[in-house]
Amino acid sequence: MFCKNCGEAINDNQAICLKCGVKVGDGNAYCANCGQAVAPEATVCLNCGVAVTNQAQQKDLDGKLGNYDKIVMIIVCLFLGGLGIHNFMLGETKKGVFKIIMSLLCGIGGILALIDLIKICMGNYVIDPEKLV
Ligand SMILES: [Zn+2]
Ligand SMILES: [Zn+2]
Repeated sequence: MFCKNCGEAINDNQAICLKCGVKVGDGNAYCANCGQAVAPEATVCLNCGVAVTNQAQQKDLDGKLGNYDKIVMIIVCLFLGGLGIHNFMLGETKKGVFKIIMSLLCGIGGILALIDLIKICMGNYVIDPEKLV
């Protein structure tokens, strides 16, 4: 990945950029995915198409998912994930319905929920009401 402040290439395990000293993930001048300069207000990198999250959004993702604490979502996903309850809570009706159907038909709703659970734990979960899984 790349420093969002100066665009220098950095390792995933680095905590701060060795070139500018800014904490990894801070800054909004460069794309963390490809290192191209992006406009501070941009939401998507025009070079690689990856979503550019600003500092405020990043912090929000750390402790929260949608309007809920991440911990709450992890617990809900763990126990009720197979029925897509966490999806309904996040406004992802399509995903929720899809999981219920998958659970009833072939019992793989739980596996899909497990994938969601891992994403939530890793902070990689993206709320998208338009997608099925
Ligand atoms: Zn830097
Ligand atoms: Zn990019």
